Amino acid sequence: MAQKLLIDMIKLRSALAENSDMLIPEGVFYQSLNSNGLKTIRELAAFRFTCRRCEDAPCISVCPADALEKDTEGIINRHTNLCISCKSCVTICPFGTMMTDFFRHHRNKDLFYDLTDRNELELFIRACPPGVASVTESDESPAENIYRLNDKVLVRDYLYTTETP
Ligand code: SF4
Ligand code: SF4
Repeated sequence: MAQKLLIDMIKLRSALAENSDMLIPEGVFYQSLNSNGLKTIRELAAFRFTCRRCEDAPCISVCPADALEKDTEGIINRHTNLCISCKSCVTICPFGTMMTDFFRHHRNKDLFYDLTDRNELELFIRACPPGVASVTESDESPAENIYRLNDKVLVRDYLYTTETP
């Protein structure tokens, strides 16, 4: 089975809660997976797994740059070319979908690691807080809160769902 990067968003949030000034390395795929501007794994995961997909999404209404919209699945998509990093969406979101530092390093390329490059992938894993990033041959495992973000990345997070068990 192909190797995948596993990002543990639960551990990452804990690490950030303990040290809110921490500079978080950002994993990105420069070539293929983020065709609509530079998107970090953290951003993609937050909108996919944490976001409640509000019907009248206040984050969209408050955005002064019209940078947010929903895709056909109701997942929020940020147009990076329009976003001015004002963080109004972070403040207004009632569910804390976006971490407080979400856009802090938006233009700081030193913290970005191109995960299409094996060396940068290893550097990214080492730069993350302990246990947050790892390589695995496992696949999605809802029992362990592990979900597939795309064909290269798994994310461990508490999945928001409207379905009753
Ligand atoms: S306000 Fe928060 S939870 Fe609601 S759609 Fe926007 S990001 Fe998602
Ligand atoms: S940071 Fe500001 S400009 Fe960017 S998406 Fe959020 S509300 Fe819109």
